[in-house]
Amino acid sequence: LWVTRDEFIFDDKNMNEEKQLQSRSTARILVALVVDDDISAQVRSTLENTGYTVFEAEDGASTLAIFQEKLPELVLLDVMLPDTSGMEVCAAIRALPAGRHTPVVMVAGLEDTGIISRTFDAGATNVIAKPINLPFLGQRAKYWLHSGALLAGEIRDMQRRLFSAQKFARLCHWDKNLDTGAFHLTCAEPRMFGLTLNCCYDDLFAAIDANKRDKARRQIDEACAADQPFMVEYPVRLSNGESRIILNQGEVILDDVRQQRLAVGVIQDITELKQAEDRIRYLAFYDNLTGLANRTLFREHWIKARSQAQRANRMVAVFFIDLDHFKRINDSLGHPAGDRALVAVAERMKLIFRHSDVIARASDHFTPLSLISRTGGDEFTILAAEITSLDDIGHLAERIIDAMNEPVRIDDQLVTLTASVGISVYPNDGDDIDTLLKNADIAMYEAKRRGRNKYQFYQHAMNEENRLRFLLSNRLRQAIDNRELILHYQPQFSVADGRLTGCEALVRWQDPERGLVLPSEFLPFAEESGLIRLINDLVLQHACQQAAKLVEAGVFAGCRMAINISGDKVNFPLLRRNILRTLTATGLPPEYLEIELTERVMMENISEAKEILQDLKDHGVSIALDDFGTGYSALSHLRLFPLTTLKIDKSFIKHMDDSINGRELLSAIIGIAKCFNLKVIAEGIETAQQMNVLTNMQCDEAQGFHLSRPITITALEELLNT
Ligand code: C2E
Ligand code: MG
Ligand code: MG
Repeated sequence: LWVTRDEFIFDDKNMNEEKQLQSRSTARILVALVVDDDISAQVRSTLENTGYTVFEAEDGASTLAIFQEKLPELVLLDVMLPDTSGMEVCAAIRALPAGRHTPVVMVAGLEDTGIISRTFDAGATNVIAKPINLPFLGQRAKYWLHSGALLAGEIRDMQRRLFSAQKFARLCHWDKNLDTGAFHLTCAEPRMFGLTLNCCYDDLFAAIDANKRDKARRQIDEACAADQPFMVEYPVRLSNGESRIILNQGEVILDDVRQQRLAVGVIQDITELKQAEDRIRYLAFYDNLTGLANRTLFREHWIKARSQAQRANRMVAVFFIDLDHFKRINDSLGHPAGDRALVAVAERMKLIFRHSDVIARASDHFTPLSLISRTGGDEFTILAAEITSLDDIGHLAERIIDAMNEPVRIDDQLVTLTASVGISVYPNDGDDIDTLLKNADIAMYEAKRRGRNKYQFYQHAMNEENRLRFLLSNRLRQAIDNRELILHYQPQFSVADGRLTGCEALVRWQDPERGLVLPSEFLPFAEESGLIRLINDLVLQHACQQAAKLVEAGVFAGCRMAINISGDKVNFPLLRRNILRTLTATGLPPEYLEIELTERVMMENISEAKEILQDLKDHGVSIALDDFGTGYSALSHLRLFPLTTLKIDKSFIKHMDDSINGRELLSAIIGIAKCFNLKVIAEGIETAQQMNVLTNMQCDEAQGFHLSRPITITALEELLNT
């Protein structure tokens, strides 16, 4: 039987009520027939005899009152009522929540045929004619109730399906009749949206955060008034205190039947979607470790900052910040500690930024144009927008440097980090961000050269050389990875008998673009950037491997492979470890290896150098003092360090005839070296005459273009085989 309820709520309580109704033997029928009291009375008794409960009304007003009180399953309604028309009453019933689906059967006189169509417009279910055929009435009533129940069942099933779809899609539907104001909400779990089932249109907006409420409502109202679709997003606070993001999306449609305008909307919980979007945005624009902006966001901000600077005739400063010796933290404390240090640095920068009066601040309506970003390992860049004076920029840079100098606590250690800062300024130092970043980087590099822990403005005078230097060190990094560094070997010969006594491994950069690049062009950068350690190590391994092969081939007896060790600060303990390991790994007996160091390298840490070199020497490795005659050239060093070999620098050879006592000096050096039991090698022999002089001075060995240029391993093998 028909359930006279507006909504179907599928919880147990209501299902039980429904069953109770079904189990009743009689249905309630409301009869409002007034044309003829007789007929009314006859209808009543006919229906009651058939087993129905009947309520009677006399006019439109009482019909509605009784309807609401008794909630009948069927309404029989005269088209002509004393106070109003049946159509009006029918429409009023339909507008009631409980009356939307109740079968309403109109009773019309034959003379009323003209208005039959209007009865249907008013929402009537059926029309019967007067005089009423009483014997059939009971049967008809049964039929109407039955078909009404079927329809109700169908509607209920549809609604059930709709509800579960809504529930799983987390959405609800609302419509508002723009002509009558009637409002309906269909929702499986209205609480999920901060709504209640019997809410009105105003309630739709009740749970929205106060500061967004009026705006959201206005947007929807205005769209409806203009017949426009709408899509409005707003945050709501639910009764459990939870905050969710809601999308209210809809349009205005025309109800063909009633010729009325209907605003229909779907409300959807898009919180998770929003969170996913935010996450994607975060990943695309922010650095995961520090939460700072990444390159992409940095560039986006630059575009805005520049156009604003152009309009306001202001400057934009680009800071390039590189932490000094950051690698040491990673090496000594491990990468996780390194990461924590970076996070600490980022926090510090944020703090400076927040408290700076120089940087253009975000207003309510504009995103801030200034921002800090992390662009790589220990590299940070800052975009400072709307700057009016260079002094301001300088102050900011000082702030950054000062802030960095405060020690950071990482795990249980206090670590002091310093930073080198390079600055370029738009429009002075460049018009596009690539140029500005590059120039700031060059300036940063200059700050490092000046001793680190400093800031430096870019100057055009930081000339080509600097720029190239900078580009080169970057390229070199890649070159090492790409295995573009190769070795050539320069043979060394016995002066007395011309026998080949060994060779010096000399590194070259086989650059795919520039061809063979000599060490003088890239080693200085390698030393400044610390890459030299890697190079020393590569050369050591490679040269030992080759030498081991030569030894194995039986062509290297009595010879040595000499390698150069250089760097800003050579880590001697590490050097010893690497050498001993490499010898073991390659199987090269230590007496085949010679290492060449300059006085400068040894003087950096005299005691360590002495100790470690002595140890290596004890292992059988030869130790050569390279480039003697340049730099210190202190004869006392020959005794101070545990050497085996002295290499006289090529400049000494070249200029031995420039001064009157040049040759004597050379001869004296050779003599003293021999006193110390050192083998003497003269480098840079370019002429037969120089060779003669050295032969006369009883120099032990010679190396130079006159004898052989540095050659490939294949050429060396050939030479050794002849
Ligand atoms: P060095 O150790 O004094 O090496 C000798 C340099 O003199 C080599 O230059 C060699 O090619 C060059 N040379 C040899 N004979 C003559 C000659 O008759 N006339 C002239 N004018 N030059 C001659 P190269 O290969 O350009 O190396 C320059 C410097 O680069 C080396 O000086 C050394 O200090 C450094 N170096 C080269 N290879 C390596 C390496 O593998 N590791 C390290 N750490 N430094 C290296
Ligand atoms: Mg050398
Ligand atoms: Mg040398």
